Amino acid sequence: MTGVISKSSHILVVDDDATLRMLTRAALEQVGFLVTEAANGREAVDETLRSFPDAILMDVEMPELDGFAACAQIRRHPECLDTPIVMLTGRDDDESIQEAYDCGATDFIPKPINWSLLGQRVMYIVRASQVSRGLRDSESKNQAFVQAIPDSMLVVNRQGMLLTHHRGSSGSRLIDDLVQEGDSIFDALPRSLADVWRTQITRVLDSKGMELSEHRAKKDAAYHFYESRVVPYTDKSVLIMLRDVTEQKQAAAKVRRLAFFDTLTGLPNRQSFLIQLAEAIREAEDTEGRIGILYLDLDNFKLINDSLGHNTGDRLLKGIAKRLSSSIRRDDYVATTGRDSAKMQVSRLGGDEFTVLLRGLGSVEEAEAVADRMVTVLKEPLSVDGHQFVITPSVGMSVYPDDGRDLETLMKNTDTALHHAKAAGRDRVTRFSGTMSIRSLERLDIEDSLRRAIENGEMELHYQPKMVLANRDIPGVEALVRWTHPDRGPISPAKFIPIAEDSGMIMALSEWVLHEACDQLKSWRGTELGSTNIAINLSAKQFNLDDLHSQIFSALHARHVPFERLELELTEGALMRDIESTINSLKRLKDAGLVIAVDDFGTGYSSMSYLKRFPIDALKIDRSFVDEIEKSRESHAICKAIVELGHGLGMKVIAEGVENGEQVTSLNLMDCDQLQGYFFAKPMPASEVTRFIKEHRERHVRRLPLANQ
Ligand code: C2E
Ligand code: CA
Ligand code: CA
Repeated sequence: MTGVISKSSHILVVDDDATLRMLTRAALEQVGFLVTEAANGREAVDETLRSFPDAILMDVEMPELDGFAACAQIRRHPECLDTPIVMLTGRDDDESIQEAYDCGATDFIPKPINWSLLGQRVMYIVRASQVSRGLRDSESKNQAFVQAIPDSMLVVNRQGMLLTHHRGSSGSRLIDDLVQEGDSIFDALPRSLADVWRTQITRVLDSKGMELSEHRAKKDAAYHFYESRVVPYTDKSVLIMLRDVTEQKQAAAKVRRLAFFDTLTGLPNRQSFLIQLAEAIREAEDTEGRIGILYLDLDNFKLINDSLGHNTGDRLLKGIAKRLSSSIRRDDYVATTGRDSAKMQVSRLGGDEFTVLLRGLGSVEEAEAVADRMVTVLKEPLSVDGHQFVITPSVGMSVYPDDGRDLETLMKNTDTALHHAKAAGRDRVTRFSGTMSIRSLERLDIEDSLRRAIENGEMELHYQPKMVLANRDIPGVEALVRWTHPDRGPISPAKFIPIAEDSGMIMALSEWVLHEACDQLKSWRGTELGSTNIAINLSAKQFNLDDLHSQIFSALHARHVPFERLELELTEGALMRDIESTINSLKRLKDAGLVIAVDDFGTGYSSMSYLKRFPIDALKIDRSFVDEIEKSRESHAICKAIVELGHGLGMKVIAEGVENGEQVTSLNLMDCDQLQGYFFAKPMPASEVTRFIKEHRERHVRRLPLANQ
């Protein structure tokens, strides 16, 4: 059997007798060794340090340096500590054998040498040395492992006796200090831990599996967490690895906190809310239960943030969060529902948006009750940084399964409900209803784009001429705003004006219209269009604005435009909102020279007695009547009555939406003062309307004498 290991092992043969060296070499090469030779002790030391042979066969008696001395010298080198050195000795007395071992020899072979056995003998010696080196290597590797592992390790038998104990470098000292080798860990450790390990040790010894467990223990007034692993060690003992995982636990908790909780308010965040909702839906599916979702948005919070700064805004949000989670307590909810399974969770989705998840809901009414109370509680004055705030929320609400069965639908519907709550004037709770969805999505999108539309220059004013029937003059034009949305294209003002009114954006938009119209008046000043009026439409919202006058006056003043050039169109609805103050406002405007017209007249509910009191210059007959003037006798009668009424009160009457010649004829017969509509001209950009009016006047001037002939 030639060894697997020693085939090409290198053997150094040391002997001063050249013949013996030759014979030894032959014997060793026979079994596959590589052989080098040295003729004395000195050469042997040199050769060893040069080539590090796998084994050395060394004669004892040699000149210069004998075998014992050479062996001793070689052993002094750390690399050669394990190199097998076999002494070839003719003396097999005890003394020289002892001497051989004393100087570090591994073994000895007596002379005369049995050549037929020498090869095998050396092979065994080399292999044994390699095996033991392997063992020692792995031993020291194991040692390194054990040192490097921070865990405590306990080798314990079935009875719980601690056989070996390695103290961990970190943490688990709590246990390390309690036990010593030879102790029963079952007696020395706290009951709870001892019981767990007792069961686990038995199980592991019986099944050879592994057991994991977690423990918690108090240390220096703080809880520490441990993880233990029990694995088979020998037939009769197990190895318990114990690790302090407190830091990992804390780190994981921190990550969870950051990932799932809002840092400002400490409330669960959007992520966490979605997880809770998904879980609640699963639970409700199983129990056929109900869930309520309330989605809150603080009204006008942005205003506070913008005017008082983010720090105040943040503190206010904290206060609101506290109110939401403490004053609207779970107990109240349980009391409302009368059920213990009822749970409510408040989250902050971001910004000024919060959600409340109502689990274990009995009926839709219960959700409504909670929502109403929430609105009431939030509305109580809150003082932050010396300011008193009254915050009102808009709340959208949806209920599982009534308003949706999956998370996406419920979220979308709650969001829709919220936007309806806002659109309906804020400060209210609105439950989702099926008719809301599509319209409101579009509305949301428009509202969003509106904010940027003015800055982005997406708005433009078009002007539609009004014509005096009697002399075909164009005394003025109506300014109509046009919006070209970058993706949707042109959007009708009939669609976006109401949204702008709801969202408050109408203020900025109206101001832009006012300035744009005044710019146009200024550019006409001193030209042949210098006497052309521009009418702008005022929103009802805008009309309640206290500083409307100063806004209008300063816009005109700054451009040196006579006040008479600007007309204001406002609807009946706007007039009737707050009659006394409207009369005062209008008086101031009219006294300054502005022309005032009532738009869409006939559709509202103006009563004659009031109309007399308003300082109004003109009535605009609503398009719907003009439209029907030929088809419906009623409309015809209404138009006629409006003209008479207006004239009776000393006002001009204007018909809008005139599209054909028959309408012109009828209105002419009724003595209507001015006409406006596609029949004469569509609304058009400033440059076009300027050209249109000029050309119209030229034609008109040329035609007049002809008509007179
Ligand atoms: P409005 O003040 O009654 O304006 C007249 C509307 O009738 C305009 O629609 C105009 O383009 C349209 N029109 C004019 N002649 C004809 C016609 O012969 N046939 C038909 N079918 N329609 C005609 P527009 O521009 O879509 O404006 C709709 C409404 O939006 C306006 O009604 C007004 O209430 C509001 N609006 C437009 N611009 C402004 C603005 O700058 N500020 C405010 N607050 N509201 C505006
Ligand atoms: Ca108008
Ligand atoms: Ca109108």
